[in-house]
Amino acid sequence: MAQLSDDCFAFGGPMMSVDEAVAIIAARVAPVREVETVEIAQADGRILASGVSAPLPLPPFTNSAVDGYAVRSRDLPRKHEAAFVVRGRVVAGASAAEAIEPGHAVRIFTGAPMPEGADTVFMQEDVRLDDEGKVVLPEGLRTGANVRAAGEDISVGSAALPAGQRLRPQDVALAAALGLTHLEVRRRVRVAVFSTGDELVSPGASRAAAQLYDSNRFMLIAMLRRLGCEVSDLGIIRDDRDALAHGLKKVAGAHDLILTTGGVSTGEEDHVKSAVEKAGKLVLWRMAIKPGRPVAMGIIAGTPLIGLPGNPVASFVTFVHVVRPTVLALAGAAQQRLIAMPVRAAFSYTKKISRREYVRVTLHRADDGALEATKFPREGAGLLSSLVETDGLVELGEEITQVEPGQSVGFIGYASLM
Ligand code: AMP
Ligand code: MG
Repeated sequence: MAQLSDDCFAFGGPMMSVDEAVAIIAARVAPVREVETVEIAQADGRILASGVSAPLPLPPFTNSAVDGYAVRSRDLPRKHEAAFVVRGRVVAGASAAEAIEPGHAVRIFTGAPMPEGADTVFMQEDVRLDDEGKVVLPEGLRTGANVRAAGEDISVGSAALPAGQRLRPQDVALAAALGLTHLEVRRRVRVAVFSTGDELVSPGASRAAAQLYDSNRFMLIAMLRRLGCEVSDLGIIRDDRDALAHGLKKVAGAHDLILTTGGVSTGEEDHVKSAVEKAGKLVLWRMAIKPGRPVAMGIIAGTPLIGLPGNPVASFVTFVHVVRPTVLALAGAAQQRLIAMPVRAAFSYTKKISRREYVRVTLHRADDGALEATKFPREGAGLLSSLVETDGLVELGEEITQVEPGQSVGFIGYASLM
């Protein structure tokens, strides 16, 4: 398991910005070391352990980009169309065609290798056949048109995929195009997840009048799995320091990260902090984000712990800004900055300076074609419907104090957060 020092989450200031949090995590969390070999068909979402350099060029040979007629550029009609005798025919998958004869055209199809000497292809849509069966080629085509040169995509020996890449379908495609059958990836990050709270019961269990079904645990597990983690679902722990400390100690050795939700506020019934202090070392991060509240960071026997707040929306937002970068660091993945896309605000909003705030919004297309963000009508951090019925978050930076309708704001869709 990844082993971290007790003081790795120490932080000097009273309030931590999102950027400071990510910088601390990226610098101090060590990636898991074990590497596995996986078939490319199983590689989507995994983290590449070492860079891949291209064992062959792509495309591997020079070929036609269209169905048409190949010619030598020195024969290209310059001022008027011209008729060419067609000699030879080369299809995709055929071995290299014979060399082209001067003044002739070769019938060729998309993906077929270029005949030796030919360097330009006319699209079949741009030509016609005359009565004698010659092909009439228009003037004005540029040398090299409609030809894909060997290595124009990837040159042999070049860096094709970097270490730390979180593999996407297109990355897997590139590995396949290079003829690779397997890739070396880091093993999955193992995360233990608990909910805490006497008021919680699992769906399926009987619920007393003052109890509610645990929802955060299922949200967090789903988000962790989307990030490629192997998750141990450890259920609900009562609001009891000793039970919590015992539970934390028990899972520390076998996991790379412990994630809890609830019980990290300053109330008397918030026992995660004291349990972490009992089982290991605690640091509280007061983050300058809303929705947010404090996030507990800790180390239990070398294993990092993150304690998220219990309110579902606060839990979601702090997951994105603390857990996500931690999981990426543990996984050995490059940190992926969240890129906010500009959209037009259809709402007004007042906020505190020096704090980053996230507004739940729905996107729609305005009459003038611009994308507009409408704010969810209510603000509570406990409203699950506010996450379900919206498309993503508008990010309002630390320097902003006021948003007016019509102003450009940055939007981050939920899909890009995971
Ligand atoms: P806490 O952070 O423990 O003070 O909880 C804050 C609020 O979030 C309370 O109303 C809790 O009932 C609620 N809450 C805590 N944990 C969960 C959970 N796992 N699922 C849904 N709601 C929760
Ligand atoms: Mg609680």
